[in-house]
Amino acid sequence: MTGTPSRRLVLLGATGSIGTQALDVLTRYPDIARVHGLAVGGSRPELVAEQAVAHRPAQLVVSDAARAEAVGAAVHSACRDAGIPAPQITAGADAVVELAGSLAEGDVVLNAITGSVGLLPTLAALASGARLALANKESLVVGGHLVTDAAAPGQILPVDSEHTAIAQALAGLTHDQIDHLVVTASGGPFRGRSREQLAQVTPEQALAHPTWSMGRVITTNSATLVNKALEVIEACFQFDLPEDRVQVVVHPQSIVHSMVTLVDGSTIAQASPPDMRHAIGWALAHPEKLPGLAAPLDFRTAQSWTFEPVDEDTFDAIALARAAHREGGGAMAVYNAVNEEAVDAFFDGSLSFLGITALIREVLEDPQRPRAQRVDGVGGLLAVEEWARTAARARLTGRGR
Ligand code: NDP
Ligand code: MG
Repeated sequence: MTGTPSRRLVLLGATGSIGTQALDVLTRYPDIARVHGLAVGGSRPELVAEQAVAHRPAQLVVSDAARAEAVGAAVHSACRDAGIPAPQITAGADAVVELAGSLAEGDVVLNAITGSVGLLPTLAALASGARLALANKESLVVGGHLVTDAAAPGQILPVDSEHTAIAQALAGLTHDQIDHLVVTASGGPFRGRSREQLAQVTPEQALAHPTWSMGRVITTNSATLVNKALEVIEACFQFDLPEDRVQVVVHPQSIVHSMVTLVDGSTIAQASPPDMRHAIGWALAHPEKLPGLAAPLDFRTAQSWTFEPVDEDTFDAIALARAAHREGGGAMAVYNAVNEEAVDAFFDGSLSFLGITALIREVLEDPQRPRAQRVDGVGGLLAVEEWARTAARARLTGRGR
């Protein structure tokens, strides 16, 4: 290590799948940045305490105020035992937004919160001038132009294996040289199944992802292909392309993380074994490359990579998202909000697996749905979201299952 780095880092969602892997990367490469602040939901006090001792953040935010006391007690006790000062602890959603906006140009905010609750922190980080390493794809999908308009060129670096891959493939190219993007999909645990076979799927089965180990919501989204649908929209906003120039291909090995086809007919792919630390390290250290960050492919052993089309008759999530994106306005916010409600209902046993995208479709087709072409700022967007959550919950209650 060459002394304390001047770049500061705020990590939102420190105890999650991406958050813990990001801290892993920072432990191995301490020169990237020093941890200024961590934000967590509050459900894992002991893990937060370990992180506070290992990374010594100055600020710690617990978004769920009801859990702040338990987290505070664990952190204070661990810091006392380690003989180090405890971080300043604040609580609540506003405190997360404040922490997200507290850095400046030259610093980096990694937003690894799950769900559209990440939107306000994303906007705060962009307003501060810091780099935004964005794992929270929901904020870009839901916020759309609100987010891209707030971002300076290059300010958002995607932390999503597909988008990180595309960004790497595009290095040195200009926008007018892109013909289309090809986003790869593992196909999830239910690739090859029919709708009849999907009818009885349980949450445990949905959580068994074949190639990636991730949080509960994104793993479920990978099984329904809602994750891929969100990623198509994420790519549209991140790379400024219409949805019909973002294709999806199933690639079960998850080695080619995505591709770019150029106007001259050449396709550029980025490939590496599936390991999110690669995407995280890429975004945090860019444009530096971190030596030994992740294991490279070994072409001395035989391997085959396969590609096949998505079964869109069985999995309707992507087509629904494409239509919502073409409509624009708040349609993608509705799509995402209903999905978040539906995933919760699936886990509490009140909605079937196929019911998830069925509910998204129903609410999108509701004649009462607000269909304004332009949503009036962030307030308008949050109102659309609230309408969608209420509409989804009413249907879930009405169904009585
Ligand atoms: P997890 O569910 O594992 O982690 C979510 C994290 O956010 C936890 O630390 C949680 O705290 C915290 N949190 C929850 N609500 C809030 C809040 N309101 N404010 C601050 N922190 C909060 O999710 P993942 O790490 O899997 O995913 C995070 C994001 O990254 C998602 O948007 C996902 O789509 C995206 N992503 C994830 C990938 C992966 O491999 N996991 C790959 C590509 C993208 P607590 O522990 O207390 O609940
Ligand atoms: Mg991804």
